[in-house]
Amino acid sequence: MRKWIQLVILLLFFIVPYTDLFRIDIPSGHYYWFTRRLSFSQAMPLLLTVLWLVFLVLGLTFFKPRLFCSHFCPHNTMSQVLRTIRRWKLDLPLAILLTPPVAFTLLAYFVDPRTAWQAITEGRSTIILAFFIALCLFIGFLLLKLRHQFCRNTCPYGYFQQLFRPERTTRLGKVITASLLVLLAIATAVSVRFTSGVEIDLGTIARIHAGTRMIYTYELRLVNNRSEQERVTVTFQKLKPFNHPEEQQIVLQPGEEKQVPFSFQVEKTEEVLLDVCAENEDRCKQFQFSLSGV
Ligand code: SF4
Repeated sequence: MRKWIQLVILLLFFIVPYTDLFRIDIPSGHYYWFTRRLSFSQAMPLLLTVLWLVFLVLGLTFFKPRLFCSHFCPHNTMSQVLRTIRRWKLDLPLAILLTPPVAFTLLAYFVDPRTAWQAITEGRSTIILAFFIALCLFIGFLLLKLRHQFCRNTCPYGYFQQLFRPERTTRLGKVITASLLVLLAIATAVSVRFTSGVEIDLGTIARIHAGTRMIYTYELRLVNNRSEQERVTVTFQKLKPFNHPEEQQIVLQPGEEKQVPFSFQVEKTEEVLLDVCAENEDRCKQFQFSLSGV
């Protein structure tokens, strides 16, 4: 049973970032949660997922020491395989063979795999290439030389586990740990469910003094993170902009981003009330603010 779990976890390690099940795309400021693309500004699901993973890894120690190491850690699985085939002198060729794909997969958890591939093969990004080389050196050293020595001498999780022993963990402690894990998983799923797939942000571009009037220019930024087309309706309820219709429907293709600029002229203080509604998601965001005159 243990070997099957190790195999599944190892396969998942290689599959997860390429199928967008979970990965963080640092250059684009987005992350993927079970194929849903979300922005860093919608951080709650990401924070809860990271918290759940940390809690899971630490919580497993309450049930059995080294349970994570023996069943789930990909480094341990690879080191065990290399140790087994050492008798046939196959460990070094396999370690050399494994180093680039492991390094690239680790990189793919933080950079879009297509972007990372082009950066490395076509030299499009020196930073990504440098990270890949550094990862290759680190993983190569781990697989070729350190293997289980890393667990004994370096891994912080190895030290952490020495603090917890099964005799110190009561049944109540295990029940509380398991309950918290379930609650965190539910909270994460709920937060993803209620996180909008359409990003709606409003920014100020300019504020110009023009005789007896003030001209304010704004930019509405819309991003469709969904895998379907989205229609967004922009409606000005109070003060109307002079260069934009009172109501406009904007179509966003999957993954598309649009900037919508508009300006107001005011002589005295006026109120702006702007409704931005994503039709398919059935969600609205309202912006309300006042503009002062000269
Ligand atoms: S000590 Fe660290 S590297 Fe070693 S098996 Fe455990 S988690 Fe993995």
